[in-house]
Amino acid sequence: MKIKKFSEKPSDLKDRIGAKPIVCYPNTHIEEKNLSILHSVRDHLVKKEEIIIPPRDAKTFEVKFGEFFRIESVEGPQVGDLNLFNLNNLEEKFYSGKTRALYGTHLSVGDKMFSSFPYLRSLATITWDTLDWYDYDKDGGSVHDVIGTRCDPYTSKLLTDNDYHYCCHSNLTRALVKEKNVQLDHAEKIVHDVLNVFMLTGFTNDTKQYFMKASPVRPGDYLEFFAETDLLGALSACPGGDCGSEHSSDVAKCYPLKVSIWTVDSKYLNDIKPSATSNYNRNHGID
Ligand SMILES: [Zn+2]
Repeated sequence: MKIKKFSEKPSDLKDRIGAKPIVCYPNTHIEEKNLSILHSVRDHLVKKEEIIIPPRDAKTFEVKFGEFFRIESVEGPQVGDLNLFNLNNLEEKFYSGKTRALYGTHLSVGDKMFSSFPYLRSLATITWDTLDWYDYDKDGGSVHDVIGTRCDPYTSKLLTDNDYHYCCHSNLTRALVKEKNVQLDHAEKIVHDVLNVFMLTGFTNDTKQYFMKASPVRPGDYLEFFAETDLLGALSACPGGDCGSEHSSDVAKCYPLKVSIWTVDSKYLNDIKPSATSNYNRNHGID
């Protein structure tokens, strides 16, 4: 944190500060050109499957290219931690940091969930968000962030010296082990920084620390995605519940989450192709 300062201010300080911000990664060329098609086909969606994620636990689900999936609040306000993988290659997984660099701190309709290097392609596009009205509040807070990581037992141990086994990191790991027969060691390594679905977060104005507030999500609210390749999803119902008080414990009131998978007749998707992995030649300057 940039609170304590030990160095003297330079004499040419005025020349060094106050430059105009430049957006690092202008994203206009990756604008979602398919969004109007995806919105028009939403009238023809047919529900294929529903999965209920119990509180303080996680489950996996599969979504094929061309299908939609929704994460829905049921029973009460609840935050979900989402991991996404290429179904056929679990090493290709959601890259929260680069997605944040491209779209900012919080995601909504039209934003794409990019995958890790060396693949870097869109795994899914967000097609609907019943909480998009929330925008950013006066504290700079909003929903569906890519700035947090996921609650985990290591940080909990570091800060409170407790062994707690139902953080999202552990829930996601357990789901991969139990449902996909991934070895525990490997599962833990491929669990990655999440999309914090429904979580209301930001950075404090003074210290720029990560903050959370009670989520505005209510039963019936959902976030909807279009799968741009075959996906394995894993969703944890965070032990923080609505994340209005604390996480990494059994204290908060928690509710289940629902994942639903939706199909649509392929005739509506003729113009949409699966996303392609990066065509960078991977030479890295080595001749
Ligand atoms: Zn969590």
